[in-house]
Order: sequence, then structure tokens, then C-alpha cells
Amino acid sequence: MPAEESSNQPEKIYLPRTSESDALKKIRHTASHVMAMAVQKLFPKAQVTIGPWIENGFYYDFDSPEPFTEKDLKAIKKEMIKIINRKLPVTREEVSREEAERRIKENNEPYKLEILEGLQEPITLYHVGDQWWDLCAGPHLESTAELKADAIDLESVAGAYWRGDETKAQLQRIYGTAWETPEQLTEYKRRKEEAIKRDHRKIGKELGLFIFSDLVGPGLPMWTPKGTVLRSTLETFLQKEQTKRGYLPVVTPHIARVDLFKMSGHWQKYQEDMFPLMAEDDESRAAEQGFVMKPMNCPFHIQIYKSELRSYRELPMRLAEFGTVYRYEQSGELGGLTRVRGFTVDDSHLFVTPEQLDSEFLSVVDLILSVFKSLQLKNFKARLSFRDPASDKYIGSDEAWEKAQGAIRRAVETLGMNYFEGIGEAAFYGPKLDFIFSDALDREWQLGTVQVDYNLPERFDLEYVAEDGTRKRPVMIHRAPFGSLERLIGILIEEYAGDFPVWLAPIQVRLLAVGDEFLPFAQQVVEQMKEIGIRAEVDLSGDRLGKLIRNAEKEKIPVMAVVGAKEVEANALSIRTRASGELGSLPVAEVLERMQGAIANYTNF
Ligand SMILES: [Zn+2]
Ligand SMILES: [Zn+2]
Repeated sequence: MPAEESSNQPEKIYLPRTSESDALKKIRHTASHVMAMAVQKLFPKAQVTIGPWIENGFYYDFDSPEPFTEKDLKAIKKEMIKIINRKLPVTREEVSREEAERRIKENNEPYKLEILEGLQEPITLYHVGDQWWDLCAGPHLESTAELKADAIDLESVAGAYWRGDETKAQLQRIYGTAWETPEQLTEYKRRKEEAIKRDHRKIGKELGLFIFSDLVGPGLPMWTPKGTVLRSTLETFLQKEQTKRGYLPVVTPHIARVDLFKMSGHWQKYQEDMFPLMAEDDESRAAEQGFVMKPMNCPFHIQIYKSELRSYRELPMRLAEFGTVYRYEQSGELGGLTRVRGFTVDDSHLFVTPEQLDSEFLSVVDLILSVFKSLQLKNFKARLSFRDPASDKYIGSDEAWEKAQGAIRRAVETLGMNYFEGIGEAAFYGPKLDFIFSDALDREWQLGTVQVDYNLPERFDLEYVAEDGTRKRPVMIHRAPFGSLERLIGILIEEYAGDFPVWLAPIQVRLLAVGDEFLPFAQQVVEQMKEIGIRAEVDLSGDRLGKLIRNAEKEKIPVMAVVGAKEVEANALSIRTRASGELGSLPVAEVLERMQGAIANYTNF
């Protein structure tokens, strides 16, 4: 199904997030207690542990002798409706620690005793009617009557461990969701289904863009020929923009001596995210001597800057590389392309004089915005990712941080951008301006980033010769409009639901001949197209037209060109596109022109 059919909603229903809505917090807290009460009614041996709200609903963890089934979920939901219909009051009671302990022991609930130990005064209990209570800090609704049974659903059961610790008791987690209205629940379910359909891991496989292999290892995608065409199209697109703006390409190695990363501070502040040291023997390992895979490209570009004495005339110097980096993500956190262990950053480091900082920063933001526009990514906001002054995970002086954060704030204010602050989200060497993109399903993804850095120039003792002949310190800007190619492609697949615009599609047009006798004509048109850089091919399977069309649809090829006797006669192609359906017969010359136009302007055919 083309993306248009599913994303053209007549009227968009806004779904609030729990973290932003007190009303939802109350609903979800209350619904979770009602669920736990229903579970204990039906399964008296089940013990309750924790039951918090989450972004789209709530869960409760139970210790229960038999595993819950889908059928059990239905029965639990039924029981919940009964509780809701009884209109039970939800009441708060403050008790002493001793009293809480006494009541927990009376109910024989050992998990709650452990929870109680970790609680601060005052200890509050929430009662649902007079039969059931749990330790909770609230907030809640005043009565179960305020819950809407048709805006609640139980979603799934999953295994969990007590306190998230694999050595502790295995529990069963029931996930539920609860909303203000039934319409919100329906919309939530629609988005969930749509998210499954758009899942880039699924579509990536169907379209044959990338693979993973157990032998290679988790989080290490490999790009097939089609996926590689997609990647290099994105690279070429950005390179072109960068060349226009005075960026200089560089290439650097994937590993380096650990000393490089000691000097940059990565080894001290970022080691957890790095693959371990490659040491020749135990002695060098103990001395922390050897090589590491690079987690970032910055120190390499710094070496290129430092390889000569630079003059103010050379600044700003903008070094750019599609640099593949390796980060040690926990294997449990890896999923598709959005979290990987090896990925390619569209990285660039700008070395600028302090006077050039503001204008260079603005032009980087301008580049990022124009990239988003070409990719048709419209819905985003900017996050000022600042340091948490209380944390010790950063390098550099307070003064350097203040200056860098000030520069970012000035830029967003100059541009009048929609922004918010993220304290503690900075890189260890400097603050960032991050672009957070909301996709067609209102999910948020971090895309591009720009960072201002006074610290690495200091640590590497970078200099330039100023106009007056003195040596001065440059400022660095780190930036990556895509963030990483892997992540961007994952997001684009989901945003477009696999329907890439013509300029990005690995195969842009496929010619379908209604009989073998028309293949030579089709082949000749394909040659003409290839000549001018259009990615075209002929389907040589010899299948009937219906099957040829179905296959091209399945592969989401944006333009199909059918060739029969009439087309050969008129030197024309019968065009059918994913975006606008049947366009009828068009002269070959016009098709070529329109294809070129769509590619050059990042639009549809
Ligand atoms: Zn609660
Ligand atoms: Zn960097």
C-alpha cells in the first residue's frame, strides 16, 4: 500500500504523552491498580510488585505460579470492567512505616516489604474500594467510575525480573494502555499497527537494502547493492551541498593508538562506549598501550589541522568525512539500524576564529535545515543539549562551557527557532544543538547535531597565526546533519513507509514489456535513461503484465513504464507511478525530462 493511503488521515487526533499530562498520569495509575486488583481476584496466588505508568500506558509485574495467557488477559479485562462499573472510590491513606509493614505482612506480600524499605516518608497507601490497596505515591482519579472501560486495553504479557536483575525472581509483566477517550485508544492502536507495517527492519528486508549476520555480530549491518545505492545517493547529495559551502573532504583510519584518545579525553570520559583495547600482550594491556577502534572522528581531523601551522587566512577550515565509527552498545539495546555498533557519521569539524563562530554556526544550521527540506522532513524542534553542572562526566573549564552554550543560545534566538533545553544531554567536550524529528506517527527521533567546542582545541593545543602575527586558539564546531547514515535510513524507511522519492529510490524506473517482442525497444530506452544518470532496468522475467506490475509494486519502484505495440509505434511509454497512479502514455523524451526534473528537485515524478 502506498504511504499516501495510510498517512492521509482526514483529521489528526492528538495523542498526549503521559509525561506531559497529569490527567493521563491519574488515568494510567488508577487503571494499573484496577488491573492488579482484577489479577489478584482471578489469581489469588499472584503477588503484585511494581506497576508504574509508561509513555503509552502502564504495566504491573506479578509473581504468579502459572504464566498468564492471552485468554487470561481477556478475563482480567472483563474483571476490570466490573471493578470500574462498581464505581469504587480511590482513597489515599498516610500510615507509619510500622503500620505499613504490619499490613503488608498480614497480606503476605514479601515484594512489597522490599519496596517499602526503599520508600521515603510519608508512606501512602491507595485503596480501591475497601478490599484492595497498594503502596503508591499517586496521583490517581477519585473513583474507578472516572475510568472509561472502552478507552482501556490490555496489550501483552512479557517476562521480567524482580528489580530488573536476572539473578532474582522471574516475574510476569502485563502491559496495558488507557486513554481519556475511546477515540484516543483507537488512534493509538492504529499508530501501533502502522508502526509494525512501517518497521524499517521488516521493510528493509522486503526491499533488500541491508542484512545482519550472526557470524558478523549484532549491531553490524551489511549493505546490499540496493542499500548501497541508497547510501551513496545520500552521501553524494550531502557532498554536493558541502562542496558549494566550502567543505574539504578528508579520509582517516578506523583505528588509532589509545594515546590519541587519552589526549582527547575519550579514554577517560567515554571508555564505556568504546570497544576494548587491542593490546599486543598483557604488559602493554596493563600499561594501556595499544590500539582502539575509533568512537568518533574528531581527534583525527584535529591531527590534520595540526599537521601544519595554520594562518587566519585558512580559516574557517571545514574538514568533512563520512567517517565510520564503532561504539560498544549493549547487545540487548541493538535493534535494526537505529542502534548499531558500527555506523557512518556524516561528520565535519570546522576550525574557526572566535570572531567567525556565530556566523559559521548559523551557516551550519542553514545547511542542516536545507538537508531536512530536501528529505521532506518537516516536523522537528531543536534541543539545546547543555551540560549538567553537577556531573563530572565533562572536560574543560566553566568559562569554556558558558561561552559555548552562549553561542548556541544566540544562534537559536537569532533564527527564532522552536527550541527546548536538555540539561545533561551535552557531549563530554561541549554543548550541542540537536534536531529532534517527529515522524508520521508522532514518534521522536534524534537526527542532526551541531556542537560548539572550546575544550578539544585547548587539549590539543591548536593554534593559528592571527592577522597581527600572534598565535591564537581556534574554536571547533562539530556537526552532522544526518547524524549517522544508518540511523537516517532507518528513519526515512519508516517515514516514507518504504516509498522512497524518485531521487533516492535504488531503482527509479522499471520497464515492463507486454510481450518479448517489445524487449529490444524497452532495452534501448533503458540505455538512454542510464546515459543521463537515471537508475532504470527492464524486467526480463517474461511474466505476464499483471505479475510484472505486482512485483514492481512489491518492490515499491516509484515509476513503472509499460511498453506494448502502441508505445513502440509512438516512441512513448505508458507511465504508472506509486505517487500518482496511471499517467497514461507519454513520449519517451518527456519521460526522460520529467525523471531528470524529479531527481534534480527532490520531488515526485
Ligand atoms: Zn498508583
Ligand atoms: Zn567531533
